[in-house]
Amino acid sequence: MYEGPVQDLIDELGRLPGIGPKSAQRLAFHLLTTDAADITRLQQALQRVKDEVRFCIECGNVAEGELCRICADPRRDAASICVVEEPKDVAAVERTREFRGRYHVLGGAISPIDGIGPDQLRIAPLLRRIAEPGVREVILAMDPNLEGEATATYLVRLLRTFPDLSVTRLASGLPVGGDLEYADEVTLGRAFSGRRAVDA
Ligand SMILES: [Zn+2]
Repeated sequence: MYEGPVQDLIDELGRLPGIGPKSAQRLAFHLLTTDAADITRLQQALQRVKDEVRFCIECGNVAEGELCRICADPRRDAASICVVEEPKDVAAVERTREFRGRYHVLGGAISPIDGIGPDQLRIAPLLRRIAEPGVREVILAMDPNLEGEATATYLVRLLRTFPDLSVTRLASGLPVGGDLEYADEVTLGRAFSGRRAVDA
């Protein structure tokens, strides 16, 4: 529709999740009129996440070093692992202040339509962690939607092979179809403290 750099910018913005063609166009024209200093800050922020942020070798959360802040914190209870889809879900659960254990980030959810099966997720590292002595509880905190449900069902079947492990899921009450991160802190906190054992 447009030419050269403007269309390139619209195309790049349109590749971001949740940004449709209209939003991409609106953002692009906003950026065209933005101060050079603001653009420089945005550029630097983008560059810095690429250069400095990595993924925790233990749990898959975003990290600045080898381990994320939570895995590096000896006060966090290693007996309890909360499994989430994305690093942003770690942030959502942290905001509730209901959980003092550790996390495991899968890197997504099972979604055949998008070509994402169990092998594309960090499930093998999860099983390795659970097989280590000391892990007593796994909390499945997937998004309350179809993909999250499919992922939780798949994990429950795998986790049955650990007889002494308590497997729980968040209580119902989260807005169905949404993302964990969109639930407000009180609702998510309640779903967390009211978590229930999975029938095995
Ligand atoms: Zn970590």
